[in-house]
Amino acid sequence: MGLEIKILDFGDIELESSFLVLGRDCGRVRRVPVYGFLILGGQYPIVVDTGYRDNAIMETLGMRGLQFHENMVERQLANHGVRPGDVRYICHTHLHIDHAGKDDHFPMNSTVVINRRELEYSVSGLMHPQYPKPDIMHLVERLHTPGSLRLEDLEMSGPIELIPGVYLEAAEGHTEGSMNVHVDTNDGRATICGDVIYDFNDQIIEPVRSFGPEEYQVTGNHSGSKRREKAAMRKLMHSGAKYILPVHDKPAKIEAGRVVGRLDMAIPGPVSQSVPRRDWFPA
Ligand SMILES: [Zn+2]
Repeated sequence: MGLEIKILDFGDIELESSFLVLGRDCGRVRRVPVYGFLILGGQYPIVVDTGYRDNAIMETLGMRGLQFHENMVERQLANHGVRPGDVRYICHTHLHIDHAGKDDHFPMNSTVVINRRELEYSVSGLMHPQYPKPDIMHLVERLHTPGSLRLEDLEMSGPIELIPGVYLEAAEGHTEGSMNVHVDTNDGRATICGDVIYDFNDQIIEPVRSFGPEEYQVTGNHSGSKRREKAAMRKLMHSGAKYILPVHDKPAKIEAGRVVGRLDMAIPGPVSQSVPRRDWFPA
């Protein structure tokens, strides 16, 4: 019996388009989803990313939060019969404002799992407003509460098995400490990639303002070099994962390093929302 991934819908955000894909539609506003993921069928339920704290906090970046009652983490988990206290691990792809905003809705004995480099980076002052004080202060509370925070050194350790079928690996893109979460489902490996990819179509399938389809476009919001970003995307696309799940775009189905299908939004299969809408469609 393999693992299943349920998509949690934490509400949308509106932001400037070129923040997501470098040079795209400068000055125009885009609306994108903010997803989290619930991994079921294993030893324990695991959550990956918790969305943003509230609509007001998105204003600190000049963005607009569109979070409604149904997007609350408790409601999203309840759709799958899970309560916050049932969740054993809360993993973070990274700690940006829209990824770790609801950790204080979970009890302190649900362990938050982060790559140590990301916690360091969050207090470096680099990308400062994207790591909001209340979220980071809560993690410091956890640091001082035995058992409530687990830090990995994925750059040095290589991939780590969190529970059977769930592996954490350094992403080497987007932020200094981002991590990918690999999940072995009945239908092959699915990789949750955080913000290493924001937009499959405009970065990977038909990269905007690029000289060729293999020359991926980078985001407008990354901490390392463009070369590193491109390599992190390449690593993902060729990792052998059958599905790649970003946080701000629909999941993609991958074959031989290419996108061969998209999920809009829920499906019969290993990755789904609570209410199925449409099936996979060709890229
Ligand atoms: Zn994000």
